[in-house]
Amino acid sequence: MSATHPVILVVNAGSSSVKVSVYTVPEAAHDNADINPVLSAHGQIESIGVAPRLRASMADGHVVADESFPVAQVADHDAAFRLIRLVLSVGLRDNPPVAIGHRVVHGGSDFAQAVRIDDDVISRLEALIPLAPLHQPHNLTAIRAVRKAAPDLLQVACFDTAFHAGHDMLAQLIALPYEYYERGIRRYGFHGLSYEYIARRLGQVAPDVAAGRVIVAHLGNGASLCAMRDGRSVESTMGLTALDGMPMGTRCGSIDPGAVLWLAQQGMTADAIQTMLYGASGLKGLSGVSSDMRALLASEEPRARLAVDFYAYRAAQEIGKLAVTLGGLDTLVFTAGIGANSPPVRARICAHLTDLFGISLDNAANNDNSQRVSSDASRVPVLVLPTDEEGMIALSTARILRESGKL
Ligand code: ADP
Repeated sequence: MSATHPVILVVNAGSSSVKVSVYTVPEAAHDNADINPVLSAHGQIESIGVAPRLRASMADGHVVADESFPVAQVADHDAAFRLIRLVLSVGLRDNPPVAIGHRVVHGGSDFAQAVRIDDDVISRLEALIPLAPLHQPHNLTAIRAVRKAAPDLLQVACFDTAFHAGHDMLAQLIALPYEYYERGIRRYGFHGLSYEYIARRLGQVAPDVAAGRVIVAHLGNGASLCAMRDGRSVESTMGLTALDGMPMGTRCGSIDPGAVLWLAQQGMTADAIQTMLYGASGLKGLSGVSSDMRALLASEEPRARLAVDFYAYRAAQEIGKLAVTLGGLDTLVFTAGIGANSPPVRARICAHLTDLFGISLDNAANNDNSQRVSSDASRVPVLVLPTDEEGMIALSTARILRESGKL
């Protein structure tokens, strides 16, 4: 780690994992020059409270920790976060971080961009917990843990909702009585850090594409799609919560609200319904095999195949819907774990898009996860771009540091 360049920590606290990345910020050539934070180390604890495993490595791949812990020792996110800080602090001793950037899933209607965290911000984020019950509490745990350990350290919240903040009213409405819209019950959209990164990346690798009508499919454990025009989000398949849109690893995606009513009428509590919709549905629920796409593709079980077929069908349907918002489609981009790495899933989705959009893939390019996977004959180019949500958080945090004269 550089002893001269400022260090930023990026914290991504998920439902069962905490990931911490260390970035250094090289001096910019001049005040308006782009800042380019560089990843120097990464640590994460997975399966918190179940089978905690810590791994930490330097950006060059050198592993500095790989260890399993008894559940009692890493029972919650607070403990996990302390442990990662401890491991990373060995390398940070001579150059402590100047700021911490947090991924925060829900910014509601209050936050249209990354924000410096203070008590008021924390209480507004607490009020949004019911809209992101699996993520927001853990995001806040990490923020509070840092505030306790280092009250003066600058902390920045970077939101999954913020990139979608400029959506037209029609993209925000939910057809409940209007007073609910005024109370914040509206469609926000998520995965914004990923989409903002992709918009920026497109501007670098293909500026002509970035200026057009683009649909980005972020297909990871969570999955959504975003319609962009001129590099800005105009529609998302996710809505009030990150349950909406296409089916995901364990989340149901859009379902008839009557199905939720039916479950309640059968006597299920709201908590039990929440657990099922977030954790036992989607690919996992349909297949009965796994939430993991690799496991499903390798499985001989007919229901595993059915789940993948449904996933591809629904992703393609959502692309059709977003194309209506855009009034056409100039480029389709795949990203995240499945989107960037799974040729068969991309092929199955694109097979539904041949008749409507004239999309066809180049099989060799698709199998290689090349940057352009469509054939020359394809009416709409199809690209694969890996995402980097943590790099986006580092950049947003560095921008706030610069604005406050600390960089
Ligand atoms: P998260 O949303 O937790 O950040 P990721 O973006 O890492 O998740 O995506 C995880 C998903 O990506 C899993 O379903 C995993 O099986 C899938 N995935 C990763 N690599 C591949 C691959 N080579 N082929 C198919 N699926 C893959």
